[in-house]
Amino acid sequence: MNETNCIFCKIVAGEIPSQLVAESEHTIAFNDLFPRKPVHVLVVPKNHYDNVAELAFENPAGLVDLVQLGAKVAEQLTDGAYRLTFNTGLAAGQTIFHAHGHVTSTKPKGEDE
Ligand code: 5GP
Ligand code: ZN
Repeated sequence: MNETNCIFCKIVAGEIPSQLVAESEHTIAFNDLFPRKPVHVLVVPKNHYDNVAELAFENPAGLVDLVQLGAKVAEQLTDGAYRLTFNTGLAAGQTIFHAHGHVTSTKPKGEDE
């Protein structure tokens, strides 16, 4: 599925540039354009789902794939402590209605205290 005028569908299709961090069969990971933490990577299903719950119900294996890629990114980029968060709904801060998790951390790998 590919929704017209969806920014993340366009990033998946390569029509909008992004800083790719990692990729798996069903998911891509790229840097957030406006990072709010020293590590801020988005993990995004290649197919379009409006939010993480829709992904969970319609493609559970896709959600597992997304969480696994998030863990690999965190393993690469953090000291092992990170958040994987999903905003759902405008009032909760969701601004892009293509499911995505935020991998965020205040502790990039190898950085001193
Ligand atoms: P949300 O607010 O929907 O949970 O998260 C959307 C995220 O996408 C935000 O953190 C925002 O900074 C990021 N974002 C918005 N537009 C772009 C873009 O064109 N490229 C990238 N890499 N990130 C974007
Ligand atoms: Zn989309």
